Amino acid sequence: MRCRTCPRLARHWDWFLRYRGIRLHWTVPACSPVCLELWKGRRMIDPNPIELAAMRQAGARAGDYIDSLGRTDMAGWSEPEWTAFIAAICGGYVDALIYQQLAANEAAGKVTGVPF
Ligand SMILES: [Zn+2]
Repeated sequence: MRCRTCPRLARHWDWFLRYRGIRLHWTVPACSPVCLELWKGRRMIDPNPIELAAMRQAGARAGDYIDSLGRTDMAGWSEPEWTAFIAAICGGYVDALIYQQLAANEAAGKVTGVPF
């Protein structure tokens, strides 16, 4: 199994430390304490309102894609259909973040008079 942060082999650092509460056990494969710490920082533990809005848009795009397929049984999807589904989700999320950034830039430009 590979580390979630880098391509090295995972060794499950901190996997079963007894002094930690059960909720704090890290189940992510990691090669080292450094990579484990990096992974912890990369996770979206507490999404902010902008990220939540982006998730809603990604969900809407996923729903639109499923509607366009006309088949809700994901077990029967082909690999290209799965790829397109994931692309719809990722694209919806990223697009939402970009649109929100553009709107924030425009609003900041109105206040400061400096175009961003
Ligand atoms: Zn690593």
